[in-house]
Amino acid sequence: MGARTGREFLEGLKDDRVLWLRNERVDDVTQHPELVGAAGAVAALFDLQHEHADLCLEPDSETGELVNVSHMIPRSKEDLQRRRRCLETFAEASVGLMGRSPDYINVTFAGFAGGRERWAAGGNDEGAENVIRYQREIARRDLSLTHTIVHPTIDKVRDRDFAAPGDPVPLHKVGETEHGIVVRGARILATLAPFADELAVYPSHPAPEGAEAYALAFSIPMNTPGLVFLCRDSASAVHAERFDRPLSSRFDEQDAFAIFDDVEVPRERVFADGNLEVYNSVLFGTWAPNVMQQTMIRAQTKLEFAWGLAARMAEIVNDTGPPTQMLLGEIRCYSELVYSALRLAEAEAFDYGEGAWFPDGRPFVPLRALVPQWFPRVNEIFHLIGSHNLLAAPSRAQLDDPTMRPLLDRYLHGAHEVDAEERAAVFRLAWDFVGSELGSRNELYERYYFGSGARHIGLAHLAGDRARADTLVDRMLGRPG
Ligand SMILES: Cc1cc2nc3c(=O)[nH]c(=O)nc-3n(C[C@H](O)[C@H](O)[C@H](O)COP(=O)(O)OP(=O)(O)OC[C@H]3O[C@@H](n4cnc5c(N)ncnc54)[C@H](O)[C@@H]3O)c2cc1C
Repeated sequence: MGARTGREFLEGLKDDRVLWLRNERVDDVTQHPELVGAAGAVAALFDLQHEHADLCLEPDSETGELVNVSHMIPRSKEDLQRRRRCLETFAEASVGLMGRSPDYINVTFAGFAGGRERWAAGGNDEGAENVIRYQREIARRDLSLTHTIVHPTIDKVRDRDFAAPGDPVPLHKVGETEHGIVVRGARILATLAPFADELAVYPSHPAPEGAEAYALAFSIPMNTPGLVFLCRDSASAVHAERFDRPLSSRFDEQDAFAIFDDVEVPRERVFADGNLEVYNSVLFGTWAPNVMQQTMIRAQTKLEFAWGLAARMAEIVNDTGPPTQMLLGEIRCYSELVYSALRLAEAEAFDYGEGAWFPDGRPFVPLRALVPQWFPRVNEIFHLIGSHNLLAAPSRAQLDDPTMRPLLDRYLHGAHEVDAEERAAVFRLAWDFVGSELGSRNELYERYYFGSGARHIGLAHLAGDRARADTLVDRMLGRPG
């Protein structure tokens, strides 16, 4: 089949999946009023790959079908740069607000397939073959995937990072059938669930000895019997004009709690089944440096958008004071730091083995730790610059009303000839970015989507190579190096 169009993607979502949103089980995710906006935005990404075919599509090495470059297993720095240009195009479409656009998992599985040996550890050759075959399948069928890699939080003292053996809540294996394995339990948090064709489960926190039943990796269609998704309340602005809610009318990618009520996973879709050697190693090595290219392209796009939008807010009210310049400069610094780290990671890319080239992971270490803190700070800067103006932005209907418009033109325009319409458009966009329900969800997303910043700050220390640091200290202590 190869790269799909938006229309083909939407047709594929019409299945009998069990997905709840507020008071109802959703019948058709492409038509539900609280989902239709984002369904359209994800569909637009499928169309975008055809509109930018020169950047985004390449022939599949075996079938010749055109597939998206986010499925590429990079074989050189040039491949990584080519992938970046397509990923930037995707990120720009939602100014980085759709963090789990399908390219995120495409890149993840390309990384998995480029590291076969890791999946084959401990005799898991069948699982490794399944990963490689599945990666080609999602490329050729152009599937959209959601994923759940974290256990639900029930008791933070008892379950620090992993399931206690015998715990019935986290996803675990309960049996085998002629065709595969049966799994039961729950996982978080399936962002993009309504707009996904399949769900991937793979590791995040390492599993201890004795937790083999929980050490699972697989992928299944969203309508697999027994699979239940509970979406959070929608942040979509259902009845709003595009002008009034320019972002939340389109970019609520949704998040869902996933329940596996005795789900059969076909054997050919099982990637890891109780093999701790595999489960505890596949996310170390190539996964992070590979997928961080995608996540940081998105983050950098969002930061650059934030800089532009905050600057526009300031200009509209002629706010040129040094404190505001510093706040705007601060956002740009975050954006440039991410930009520089990305370029460095690509420039220092290397063959991680098996001929797969991924970015150098080192420039991403501080980003994983600090970007989750930068986005809440960016939102604070919007509040500081935007102030009450964020809340004094007339709606489309008010601007269009013949009795209101003259008043708005007289009392609610901006400095330097900026008219009431332009002022309202910019402050409404800014409020939707940081203050609406979507803005609030997005702040939570940035804090946690890759694990908390706090965790990564600790890991930056614990997983760091201290050889040079120790040598420097020893030298000053007068000890031979
Ligand atoms: C909007 C959103 C979308 C998401 N989408 C997905 C998805 O699509 N798929 C998926 O699998 N998961 C998704 N997640 C879940 C995400 O993976 C988890 O929320 C994330 O891993 C954080 O989980 P945690 O509780 O283990 O965090 P932790 O890292 O344990 O952090 C929990 C708290 O402990 C604090 N903390 C942790 N370590 C330390 C430390 N060493 N010192 C001090 N404080 C510390 C943190 O600051 C935080 O307050 C999403 C989450 C959100 C919010």
